[in-house]
Amino acid sequence: MQILVQKFGGTSVQSKQTRQHVIKHIENALNNKYKLVVVVSAMGRNPAAYATDSLLNLVDYPEQSISDRELDMLMACGEIISSVVLSNELKKKSIKSVALTGAQAGILTNADYNQAKIKEVNPTRIYNELKTNDVIVVAGFQGKNEIGELTTIGRGGSDTTAAALGVAVKAERIEIFTDVNGIMTADPRVVKNARALDVVTYQEICNLAYQGAKVIHPRAVEIAMRGKIPVLVRSTYKEGGGTLVTNVQSNKSAVDVSERLVTGIAHLANITQIKVQTKEKEAYRLQSEVFKAMADAGISIDFINISPTGVVYTVPDIQGKKAIARLEDKGFHPTVIKNCTKVSVVGAGMNGVPGVASRIVQALTNEGVQILQSADSHTTIWVLIPSKDVYKAVNALHDEFDLAKESTILHDFIIER
Ligand code: ADP
Ligand code: MG
Repeated sequence: MQILVQKFGGTSVQSKQTRQHVIKHIENALNNKYKLVVVVSAMGRNPAAYATDSLLNLVDYPEQSISDRELDMLMACGEIISSVVLSNELKKKSIKSVALTGAQAGILTNADYNQAKIKEVNPTRIYNELKTNDVIVVAGFQGKNEIGELTTIGRGGSDTTAAALGVAVKAERIEIFTDVNGIMTADPRVVKNARALDVVTYQEICNLAYQGAKVIHPRAVEIAMRGKIPVLVRSTYKEGGGTLVTNVQSNKSAVDVSERLVTGIAHLANITQIKVQTKEKEAYRLQSEVFKAMADAGISIDFINISPTGVVYTVPDIQGKKAIARLEDKGFHPTVIKNCTKVSVVGAGMNGVPGVASRIVQALTNEGVQILQSADSHTTIWVLIPSKDVYKAVNALHDEFDLAKESTILHDFIIER
């Protein structure tokens, strides 16, 4: 039995009309003799009636009168509705289908409501249902904890559900259907000539996803990578195409995926930069005190640069007020810049290649974009910039590394499973 996992995002399942495209992809796969596990998100986006944010509006969220446990019960409804609606439309087309909640599909999580982690998938029920059905429609973004309580696994969680199920049933492939043609060289809403990538490694996509390319959730990529299941990210509104995420290896030893210097550019907005400095010689105490204050307040910090005279780091804008208050409580006088964006230039091929950082700085300087902070690793260079410049910056970097142009070296790849 060959199984495919197909995941359809919120915009793909939002209306009868868009679901016609969904059903077409399901029929195509069935015609190719696959059995299917289909994972669905909630229908549409706010203000659509059953979108996750619309359900939250029903309890005036984020006014915190509701418990985390009941919040999960509420949020999980969106995907359950979606699974039942799609399963029924499939049955109307004489396709043997059954809808399951995440829990019924065997998804076990830890007890961390709203942000639960999948611990284990027991695919017994899915296998049983596949004896009499061709399609199992599973509500994404949810599971149950050890005591049987419903849990949700965080935004973008349906991607993770699809990956976990794909690994559990040893799917031939996990297909993530969405409203763009694949994983692109940059967010197509920001860069008009962004191009869909052909074949990319799990690692590169994981980096891009962590740095803000929301087309696929990074957890999903990690799970698929560990299970060695290829992921195809593709458009709901098209027949073919898409980006294959896998382990790629060239059949010519001299050419390999790392020859692509830069794979893509991602960005994350709504970041606050905080700088705490001292004139005294006790910077080491300042550093540990600052980080302890942040940790005690449960504030997640990023982009940490330490110097002999102080520290610079970032927090999400929504935690900015709290962070500043805690610092002032301790007698510090932080310098704060709100509304920053972290732009990440990602590419396995930049490892050991000199001059990449200077090209980034030059491209941004030419556009008059101020770099507030920067950092780098083997495969990523990050810069923090004012959010007002994000279009200029991302487009300038996209041009600098010629990302709109098709890379020819990719055609020699063989796919490794
Ligand atoms: P879904 O509801 O199908 O899960 P999402 O909104 O979560 O869809 O993800 C798709 C969106 O991700 C696209 O519409 C696009 O604007 C955005 N996006 C950001 N970065 C990228 C990228 N590098 N490639 C493709 N899409 C991206
Ligand atoms: Mg998504």
